[in-house]
This record gives sequence, C-alpha cells and structure tokens, in this order.
Amino acid sequence: MHDTTSWRTCPCDPCRDRTRAYNRNYMRSKRKDPAPRLVPADSVVDHLTALRGAGWSTRDLADASGYARSTLMRVLRGETRLVRSVMAEDLLSIEVGS
Ligand SMILES: [Zn+2]
Repeated sequence: MHDTTSWRTCPCDPCRDRTRAYNRNYMRSKRKDPAPRLVPADSVVDHLTALRGAGWSTRDLADASGYARSTLMRVLRGETRLVRSVMAEDLLSIEVGS
C-alpha cells in the first residue's frame, strides 16, 4: 500500500498509526502556539507595487498567486498591516520579469 500512496492516506495499520502520531504532534504544537505566523505587509506591498509598475494587473496577480483579488487589493491599499507568512512567501516569489 505505501508504495502507491502516501502514508497520510494509506489505510494500513502502520500508516494509520503514523498519521495519528503526526496529527497528535501537529495539534500539540498548534495548542502551544495557536497564532498564525504573521509578518509585516510592507515588503509585500512594495513587491506588489513593483509588479503593478511592471504591468501586472491585480487580476494577473490573483491568477498567479492563487489569492483573491480583493485580498490583494486590501494589502495594496494598506488596509492589512500583517499578512500570513506563507502568503508573503507566495507573493514575493512572483518575479517582476515573468
Ligand atoms: Zn501503508
């Protein structure tokens, strides 16, 4: 079973034990630090502004990043001071030249 499928979805006993252990650890660390990892939006705003200067529309940015246009516009307007770190990484990884 584990040859063809990930241990996370494999129904055999050892894999289910492993999934349970993984979830247990995950929930434990969530309880210890439930806050989402947030970073200041500044660098993201700068980057989105640079992208827009290079001809990207907010729709292009939404398509490229997978985030809602309304979310990106809120960040661009400075209404969001903190963004999730995964979102910052995703947006900063869009290259101006691409
Ligand atoms: Zn298995």
